[in-house]
Amino acid sequence: MTEDTAASARRTELADNLARTQEQIAEACRRNHRRPEEVSVIAVTKMFPAADVRHLASLGVTDFGENREQESTSKAHEVSESGVDVRWHFIGRLQRNKCRAVASYVDMVHSVDRMSLVSALDNAAIAQREHALPVLLQLSLDSDVKRGGVPAEHDEELAVEVLARKGLRLRGVMAVAPRDWQAERAFETLADRAGRLRRIAPDANVICAGMSGDFVTAIEYGATVIRLGANLLGPRADVGYPVG
Ligand SMILES: *Cc1c(COP(=O)(O)O)cnc(C)c1O
Repeated sequence: MTEDTAASARRTELADNLARTQEQIAEACRRNHRRPEEVSVIAVTKMFPAADVRHLASLGVTDFGENREQESTSKAHEVSESGVDVRWHFIGRLQRNKCRAVASYVDMVHSVDRMSLVSALDNAAIAQREHALPVLLQLSLDSDVKRGGVPAEHDEELAVEVLARKGLRLRGVMAVAPRDWQAERAFETLADRAGRLRRIAPDANVICAGMSGDFVTAIEYGATVIRLGANLLGPRADVGYPVG
């Protein structure tokens, strides 16, 4: 295959994946009496090249997610150098010393889960951006904080801290279903905690939940944003999630 033929075969493959996935999302919305416009998709392109981002962008995908700062920053740079304009979401574990890099170009950070990260990200956002950086609190549903996320007993104080920061704008919550839980239990728990947080942060109405294996259930329980990797891009040779 020449390079051009390979690129066009890949674009066709991504177009087929996207069409099939959009049909599944539409079907899940119909069954749950939700409008498809209520559910937006982030294409998770970790471990896939910038060329795939450009293909998906040309097919109408506007939002992309990455979970490692170095890979994210260099891919975002490469895509933007090629003149393609997309929105980036940082969905992985974030270290304080990576906040400056991330705050300079991402449109949303999904993984705010501790006080020390709030101040680092706030300082970075004030230094790097004209407008506040939209963020989600990543909730730990089973309180196994090794895998990221704030446990239930601390999510309100973390929200209050974010609300007090000029550089950040609290938009909602994000979670990954614990490996050994039924998806129903995970996303019901998430919806409940999201509802409680809205009492102190009425604008925080984003519920980012659901990946390739469980997005249909996430839509059933009110997800407004879903994060899809394998369904759109194909299998990855990684060790699982969340990495980075
Ligand atoms: C990798 C990843 C995804 C996408 O996972 P798939 O199962 O490939 O859809 C979603 N969310 C997070 C936090 C991830 O790290």
